[in-house]
Amino acid sequence: MKPDKWVLVTGGSRGIGESVVEHLADKYNVVFTWLREEEQARALESECAQFAGKVIGFRCDGTCAAQVDTLAANLLSEHGAPFGIIHNAGITRDALHFRQTSQDWHAVINTNLNAIFHWNQALLPAMMTKSEGSIVMMSSVSAIKGNAGQVAYAATKAAMLGMTRSLAKEVARFNLRVNSVLPGLIETEMVQVMAEAEKKILRKGIPMRRFGRKEEVSQVVGFLLSDGSSYITGQSLVVDGGITI
Ligand code: NDP
Repeated sequence: MKPDKWVLVTGGSRGIGESVVEHLADKYNVVFTWLREEEQARALESECAQFAGKVIGFRCDGTCAAQVDTLAANLLSEHGAPFGIIHNAGITRDALHFRQTSQDWHAVINTNLNAIFHWNQALLPAMMTKSEGSIVMMSSVSAIKGNAGQVAYAATKAAMLGMTRSLAKEVARFNLRVNSVLPGLIETEMVQVMAEAEKKILRKGIPMRRFGRKEEVSQVVGFLLSDGSSYITGQSLVVDGGITI
């Protein structure tokens, strides 16, 4: 147990992020963020209570530098530098490129990429001073495979890989590691609502013939924060049941 350490998980209210929060709460204090409005906040408060004070959630729009700066300043003054950041929050706005609206293009870039910039700007100086920690970016196999209808999404997920390598080089001497995780098709709400026929076709394209479980991603995130990965930095770990082979 390392109760003195806290980690930030962006977009921890559901899906993969929620699983990451639950997994990391065994070892760390966890702060997570979400976006949607108040009715969700109440449900999240009671969920957090189950973790006996080790998990706390805040509504904070990562695309808004002012919101990120305010929350980060409060967290730093109360708890000091975080041990880890999991840049998980992400959206898709699927459309063929020539049909994509400017609004959707910018929403994807802002959420998936600019929010990482905001959080890093706010927290990295303190982490470098503390000189220990690990940053994980939630990319996607779309970054390397590409996907028709996902030009904006894939662009952000591929950009994360460049960010990972470059930032890893910048901060390695401060004992900070930076890695990416690239999930394939994971059983989140998005997959659960698909028609069975559609799922069948998708499964055929996966060598392991099944979708991934959220826990299979969160365990890899846990590994990238742990001492077991103490000499791994700048890497992109694919968790996809073989789709990209
Ligand atoms: P979900 O859509 O289930 O959850 C997204 C999370 O991000 C929610 O907590 C949401 O908050 C939060 N969020 C969205 N926008 C913002 C914002 N502006 N500020 C703060 N929080 C925000 O996502 P998944 O679990 O499916 O995916 C998580 C990550 O994994 C994403 O980065 C995604 O690209 C990546 N990924 C997912 C795959 C999959 O199969 N699901 C495959 C490959 C990669 P709220 O609940 O309030 O909306």
